[in-house]
Parts: sequence; C-alpha cells; structure tokens
Amino acid sequence: MRILLVEDDELLGDGLRTGLIQYGYTVDWLKDGGSADQALKTDKFDVIVLDIGLPKLSGIHVINHLRSRGETTPVIILTARESVEDRVKGLDAGADDYLIKPFDLDELCARLRALQRRSATRADPTIIHGGIVLDPAAHTVKLEGEFVNVSRREFALLFKLLENAGRVLSREHLSQSLYGWGDDVDSNALEVHIHNLRKKFGQEFIHTIRGIGYMIDKSKEIK
Ligand code: CA
Repeated sequence: MRILLVEDDELLGDGLRTGLIQYGYTVDWLKDGGSADQALKTDKFDVIVLDIGLPKLSGIHVINHLRSRGETTPVIILTARESVEDRVKGLDAGADDYLIKPFDLDELCARLRALQRRSATRADPTIIHGGIVLDPAAHTVKLEGEFVNVSRREFALLFKLLENAGRVLSREHLSQSLYGWGDDVDSNALEVHIHNLRKKFGQEFIHTIRGIGYMIDKSKEIK
C-alpha cells in the first residue's frame, strides 16, 4: 500500500516515514502543500496522511482540490490538539479521519487499515479468499491453515489483488501502489513478484490479462 505523507515538520515526518516503512507501507514524503497538490494530479496513492498547517498551500486546500477532481482516495489529517476548527474544516472538506498530535504510530497504522477496509467496502479485518487468509494487522498470510512466507512487496501485491478480486488491475496501477519515487525498480520486478506468488499459491491463482495486467477471480467461497 502506497502512502503519500505530507508533513513539514522534519523530525515528525522522518519518524513517520521510517515507522510506516517498517510496517510494510510504501511511503512518499512531501513537505509542502503545493508539491502535494501537484503529486496528487499525476500519481495514485492508496491513502494520504496530511498535515493541515503546511507551507505554500494548506492541507484544507489540498483536500478541496483533490475532492473537486472527483478523487476518492482516503485522507487522514494530522492536527494540533487545540485546533478543533482545523479538524472540522478538514472533515467537511472531505477528510475521512483525523489524528491529534502527538499520536502513536500503532494507532495511525490501525486507522490506516480501517480506512483501507472502508474504501474497499470490507467489514472483516482479514481477507479470506478460498483457502487464503490474509491478515493486514498481523502482516501474515495463511494457505489452508499454514503460514506462507511472503516478502514485503509480495504481501502488498497479494493484498492489492485480493482486495480487488474480480477486477483487472493494470500493471501501471500495481507498480504505482508497490513502489515510491525513490525506489529502484527493475522493469520486470512486477513479473518476478507475480511469478513468486504463483509458486506459493498456485499457477492458476493469478490470471494474466494480456496487454492490460493481472486479476484474481472473485472467491467462490464465502460472501
Ligand atoms: Ca505543520
């Protein structure tokens, strides 16, 4: 899952970036509202973690612009304890959730999972698909009750495909959600991860849609 983090406080931003990467997220960090506004016009993110008090363009304006383009990407705003007004404005502008500084990284991650669940219209915290159980909080995957070892990227890719089961995801969409700007990406990196997932979960598990991308069938069990 790729996060756009927008925070002008160096220390907090750096801590958040490092922490979120350790939690398995792909993180791109920007330090002002103007560049965030630009990035959101060209790149796809799964969630935006947005400070309100930002140089160049406030977080409120960033949300306003995003929503006026019809983008539904979930946004979680970060505000100071005393600024009730910012929280109200932010939520009214189209933010989905907020956190008051200082906050705990564990709480941020739990809220990120909740947002992702809601945007995928999923109530269950785990994803069950045939014999596969993926647990976003524990960061584990089981196949027929047995834990399967997957890398950070494989986990993210599997998560994305399972959440969108029944829909074809383009290679570009998948790569964007897997890699941030600074990441060194081999041109066939995505194929390698798909290959590894097929080895672990079965050759027929992920379909290649030629010229477009990849897809997992909708689960025939449950739901
Ligand atoms: Ca700030």
